[in-house]
Amino acid sequence: MKMRIALAGNPNSGKTTLFNELTGGNQYVGNWPGVTVEKKEGYYKKDKSYEIVDLPGIYSLSPYTLEEVIARNYLINEKPDLIINIIDGTNLERNLYLTTQLMELSIPLIVAVNKSDVNNKRNVELNLNELERKFGCKFVCISAAKTQGIENLMSSAKEINESPRAFKPMHSFCGVLEHALAHIEDLIKDHMSYGNEERWYAIKLFERDDSALKNLNLDETIQSKIENIILDAENEMDDDSESIVTSERYVYIAKAMKGSYINKDIEGLKPSDKIDRIVTNRILALPIFAAIMFFIYYIAITTVGTLVTDWTNDIFATAWIQEPFAAWLSTTSAPMWFQGLLVEGIVGGAGAVLGFVPQIFVLFLLLGILEDCGYMSRIAFILDRIFRRFGLSGKSFIPMLISTGCAVPGIMACRTIENDRDRKMTIATTSFVPCGAKLPIIALIAGAMFGNASWVAASAYFLGIGAIVLSGIILKKTQRFKGDPAPFIMELPEYHLPRPKGVFSRMWERGWSFIRKAGTIIVLSSLFIWFSSSYSWSLNPVESFDNSILYSIGSLFAWILKPLGFGNAKAASATILGLVAKENVLAAFGILYGYQGELSGAGNEIWRNLQAEYTALSAYSFLVFNLLCAPCFAAIGAIKREMQSTKWTWFAIIYQTGFAYSISLMIYQFGSLLIGNINPLGVTAATLILVLFIYRLLKKDNVNTDDSKKISLTTCGGNCAGCKSCK
Ligand code: GDP
Ligand code: MG
Repeated sequence: MKMRIALAGNPNSGKTTLFNELTGGNQYVGNWPGVTVEKKEGYYKKDKSYEIVDLPGIYSLSPYTLEEVIARNYLINEKPDLIINIIDGTNLERNLYLTTQLMELSIPLIVAVNKSDVNNKRNVELNLNELERKFGCKFVCISAAKTQGIENLMSSAKEINESPRAFKPMHSFCGVLEHALAHIEDLIKDHMSYGNEERWYAIKLFERDDSALKNLNLDETIQSKIENIILDAENEMDDDSESIVTSERYVYIAKAMKGSYINKDIEGLKPSDKIDRIVTNRILALPIFAAIMFFIYYIAITTVGTLVTDWTNDIFATAWIQEPFAAWLSTTSAPMWFQGLLVEGIVGGAGAVLGFVPQIFVLFLLLGILEDCGYMSRIAFILDRIFRRFGLSGKSFIPMLISTGCAVPGIMACRTIENDRDRKMTIATTSFVPCGAKLPIIALIAGAMFGNASWVAASAYFLGIGAIVLSGIILKKTQRFKGDPAPFIMELPEYHLPRPKGVFSRMWERGWSFIRKAGTIIVLSSLFIWFSSSYSWSLNPVESFDNSILYSIGSLFAWILKPLGFGNAKAASATILGLVAKENVLAAFGILYGYQGELSGAGNEIWRNLQAEYTALSAYSFLVFNLLCAPCFAAIGAIKREMQSTKWTWFAIIYQTGFAYSISLMIYQFGSLLIGNINPLGVTAATLILVLFIYRLLKKDNVNTDDSKKISLTTCGGNCAGCKSCK
């Protein structure tokens, strides 16, 4: 008899490995109807009457992600004859969460516990009889990678094929929930198109799942009766219905695991868990994160980074390249303007940017190590806990992380956020994080104006993250963005020593795109900056910058920036050129403030020139404005592609620039006030903005701030107090 088998399981449980093993070369790869998620089908290589469909990897059957929707629709509408639920035996508890949902579909189910080779090595023993008794379905241990247990799995499938029997889920929840479910089942039993589906639908309706509700076509009275049943249960259990079901599933799993999962090694925490006890601890997590990021920026920008940058600038660029080059150039009969173009324009502009390559590589190396060893995943988890309070999802952290290299891939990474309003919000704010191109501005100002104080660079990073959180809170209180974030489930890989290959390839990928850009678009921009600052509109060379083309362009905008402390033509034109590429801000400074071939060495020309024209406060305000204002054209293009709307792109640009203006204004005006340099109008404007910010922050909203909705991990280390099982 023919049999259709669906393979379902969490990502990384070994589905693909098993599927390939079962089908041999005998498979068809296409797309699921209407979407570009890969669809794989094939036949069991030893018996062609078994057709196997590989479903997308999912953590649950909720309707939140595309993958979940595809898997769920397939299982509900196509009704395969059997589900093989492949679970990662090394992470039983989390994987069984999906199992508890698959059980409710009334489709015969076999649970294939994969990676048993690892469990054997770890001295973990599973009591399959006990698991079968508790879950009411067949459990088989396999190792897909080592092709063990697969025959056994398929002969269990054969048995079910030969004598199909109605499948009854065995798990039960607490009294209150079971009571509510029984009432709902009773109300909907006449609406079932297949038998045995009441429980699945009852649970989904209890969770207020819209698509399940649509499937059933219930009339108003039944719907309101169901809503009352849910409200009663919610009141009684003091939790929202979705969380009730989630935690009941975990309670059931925990019970089922007792006595069926035996770790014969000394009971104790894995090293990863021990680290997580501290690192994801509710109180310590953020200070630790802040300390680590501070340290990283300290090393990259202030200490090691400066050492290498000094060497590159003083020895490599100046003594080895620039001086011999300039000497050689003066022996040639090249016209003066050409020498100026090469030395002041290209070396002064693009060269200044390239001078920061070592610092950038050090930063990317350190960030790469943090990512590779597994720490960054913890940060997503920790920030999710915090973000959630404001109605944001921890998913927004992934684009932020990528944006530390470049905002373009960061913005593209927002695609993983399914919820439309959360995605738009993240797209519009992720470029607040300082990308590689903004780093030279930070390093220059930290060096020239703050004696290389270590807090300057780190403050830029935290300002970026702070801007995202602040924007999130404010935007979430507007009609357009309000609503609960979708649950964020993520794997916490075990910590491991960073792998050089992974770390270096990440560093190279981010660093190289910086170098490539400095060598192409920044060279062109530098030529433009050099030309427009050395010539007048009548194309005559000018002695003073004040007569140049760039001066008149910058002056058009400079007055707007006056209240921020840097309302001069040089800073204004640098800021505008920064829209082409943020590196241009530094290239422009290099040319306009006289680059002498050693940008970061103490006591050099550009530092003195900056110190003459800026105060620490106005320079910091300039830094903040350039950090937060509209990103470069490439990133704006990415925003437009991802938003798929001109209106939303303009929203992002105007919002970012307005936000940057407000923050810089407050920094400059309140800072001036502190040092006794009062500008009544400016302070009034800054105070108004501050009041507005505080008002928006404190404004009551109807966003659910309860973070118990989170469905979370079991590998958090056991005492994070943030995830369901720890609470
Ligand atoms: P999918 O995401 O569910 O398709 O999972 P994959 O088939 O891609 O496997 C995820 C990872 O688990 C891969 O690195 C596999 O090599 C590994 N893996 C799969 N099956 C086994 C197994 O039986 N034992 C071990 N040790 N590793 C396995
Ligand atoms: Mg796969």
